[in-house]
Amino acid sequence: MAQDRPDIPTALKRTILVEAGHRCAIPTCRQTPVELAHITPWSKIKEHTFDNLIALCPTYHTRFDRDDIDRKSMLQYKQNLEVLNGRYTDVERQVLKVYARILG
Ligand SMILES: [Zn+2]
Repeated sequence: MAQDRPDIPTALKRTILVEAGHRCAIPTCRQTPVELAHITPWSKIKEHTFDNLIALCPTYHTRFDRDDIDRKSMLQYKQNLEVLNGRYTDVERQVLKVYARILG
């Protein structure tokens, strides 16, 4: 299953969790515990990036994996988080991406 898939760097993982307030990123859910999900499958991009990771509870992670929730919807949920937070400047996001690339 996990063929040569490196762990998600701790700093990136933390940022994704903080972005979602350590809760499921689906606004009507907000359950814990949370897992990190790749919005575009790891097998396609082979990279851990800030833009492609989202915190989901196990229920929604499973629903997403089963295509119960499509990718465009998930991207909207991800964008919602960014709007809600308004916390990450472009520079910070670039740093995170570079950091993920080096460590990932
Ligand atoms: Zn959830």
